Amino acid sequence: MPNWPLAPVRYAQAAIICIASLASVWAADYTGPLLDAHLHYNEEAWNGQTGPHPLPDVLARMQRNGVRAIVANSRPNDGTKALADAPQTRAAGVTVVPFVRLYRNRADYDNWFRDETIYTLVQTELARGTGAGPYKGLGEFHLYDSANANGPVARKLMQLAEKQQLAVLAHVDDVAIDLLMAHAPKARLIWAHTGIGGAPAARVDALMARYPLLMGELSYRPGLTCDDGQLCPEWRALVTKYPDRFLIGSDTWVNQRWLYYDELMRGYRRWLGGLPPDVARKVAWDNGARLFGLPAP
Ligand SMILES: [Zn+2]
Repeated sequence: MPNWPLAPVRYAQAAIICIASLASVWAADYTGPLLDAHLHYNEEAWNGQTGPHPLPDVLARMQRNGVRAIVANSRPNDGTKALADAPQTRAAGVTVVPFVRLYRNRADYDNWFRDETIYTLVQTELARGTGAGPYKGLGEFHLYDSANANGPVARKLMQLAEKQQLAVLAHVDDVAIDLLMAHAPKARLIWAHTGIGGAPAARVDALMARYPLLMGELSYRPGLTCDDGQLCPEWRALVTKYPDRFLIGSDTWVNQRWLYYDELMRGYRRWLGGLPPDVARKVAWDNGARLFGLPAP
């Protein structure tokens, strides 16, 4: 006798097994608060409120993506102050963590580490503060040649940050991490992009182990995500090994990044959803909140 009457049962069993295994692969997106730890509000975005992304625009982007706090810095610092000072920012439920940018213009990117006027600029800004309170960090700064981490102003700024317990957001390679930490071993260094040049995961692991205060921000990190937008295995291993050490960020360095802000945040929510919930919450919010003393949103 043919066994066709049993076939529907077998199909049903197979379907259940299939759905169960897919559920573990396609975890639901993370739905909790986000802290954008690498945000720029540069002149070309707002341009005296006549640019393509005035305050109401960028605040709406944060709000609809559940971004409840931002590390804000900008070239020049007016963009950060505009965000920090505006009552609309508070009304949007966004907490600003202001950082002093070291750049007045594009030329400063390649010279700040030896330019004494930048040191003066930083001190003036720190003394002035913002409408959201005192500055909590320095950066983002760039070192395209890691040897410039030993520039006299780079050294002084690291030591100033250490003394005043300011965080430092640094776009540098792995060699410069060692050099910067040598200037100020107790500095709270945030490695922007955690190695945009693709320092191997094993090297990142070694630096995390060597410098317990080092944090890694993950925008533009090569090799971070794989299939279905989930973390690649070596990064999943790193993030779960150091759940208290990683942060997410948008890096809105050009206006195009503002255009894709929704997609960027959706991408983070996707891979965060594939992590254990407590790890996801730390990377999404708690690690930054701890670093900057923010209350739960
Ligand atoms: Zn940046």
